[in-house]
Parts: sequence; C-alpha cells; structure tokens
Amino acid sequence: MGMRIGYGWDSHEFKKGVPLKLGGLAIDHPQGLFGHSDGDVLLHAITDALLGALAVGDIGSFFPPGDSRWKDADSTIFVNLAMEEAQTAGYRIVNVDTTLILAAPKIGPISGDLRERVAELLRIAPGAVGIKAKTPEGLNQDHLAVAHAVVLLEGIEEEDSLREMEAAMDDPQTVEAVVGELVGEAHSGHSSRRRVTSRPGFDTEDIT
Ligand SMILES: [Zn+2]
Repeated sequence: MGMRIGYGWDSHEFKKGVPLKLGGLAIDHPQGLFGHSDGDVLLHAITDALLGALAVGDIGSFFPPGDSRWKDADSTIFVNLAMEEAQTAGYRIVNVDTTLILAAPKIGPISGDLRERVAELLRIAPGAVGIKAKTPEGLNQDHLAVAHAVVLLEGIEEEDSLREMEAAMDDPQTVEAVVGELVGEAHSGHSSRRRVTSRPGFDTEDIT
C-alpha cells in the first residue's frame, strides 16, 4: 500500500470576545479565531492534510459550513473523522509537520503543550509532531491566523505483516521450536507436516 503525503492550509480572522482554540487547546488571549466552528485553524489544516493524503476531499465537503450541526463545533470532531477515514483506508500516520503564521499570541511558550495535544489527538508520539510558528512579516495580515500542515501516512497491513515476518525470523525460540519439531518428526517417523507448512518460510532450507 506504500506511503501517501497530504497537505492542508487554513486561515481564520481574529475577533474580540471569541475564545481562542489552537491545536485543540484553549488558549488565554483577548481575541479568538472566528469561524463557523471553533475556528481552530491548526486542526483544520491538519484535517485537510489527512483527507488530502487519502484523496477523499476536504473538510468543507465532509462538514459543509452551512450545516448548523457544525456551528461552534469542537474541531477535534473533524480530526477524528479524518483519522477514521485513514484507518478505514488502511493507513496510519507516520508524522505531521505544521507552521502557524500569526502576530499573537507567541507560540514559543506553548509549543510544547500544542505538540502534546496534537500528538494525543492524532494518537502518535509527540516526537512525530512538528509545531513551528512565524509572525506575518510584511504581509499585513496581523488580523489573521494561518496554518499549514503536511502529513505522511503509511499502509498498515503491508507494514505489519512484514514486521511479523521479521519478528518470527529473528525469534530464536520460534526457530528452535520448528527445528525441534522437524527433528522429532524425523525420529518418530510420523509427520506433523501440516503444522510446519502452515508457517511459510520455515522449511529446513530456510533455517540455515
Ligand atoms: Zn478553518
């Protein structure tokens, strides 16, 4: 099944009196991001990156902005749906990298928390989540927050069966058991071939 890459982008406008949500975290700030949902620009970019990697559309096609069900919705719902899509298609996340572009608040002091939260939502290690931030120098966009995200997916089945096979080959006990079985078979004269042949890759030639 191999690997797939996805890219997502989003922007929202700051408004006074709106609670700020970034990466699924509630952040103390006088302004928040205005949107039909909770305006979590980072989670929207990540959701689009996931859906893009699967080539199944975008956040708007799954959650139309006109649909009242998604009014003020918690954006973790969108991420969870994209995660389900990935799982159904047989993929898991290898890593995610993101860039936030916003004048305020400063992301540096909260980047560790953001990373932990995004990792938790995506069910991957924090070391597989990149959180980077820039101020919009020369762009005249201090009233906006922009997020970019890329995600790498890998096929689950292919990888797992390969890993299982490797683990079996590396496990001396498995090899010993199969050798013992073959030796016992030779001595006793009766055949337990059926069991042996049910484990591909473990005939006597392979053991050498
Ligand atoms: Zn959005």
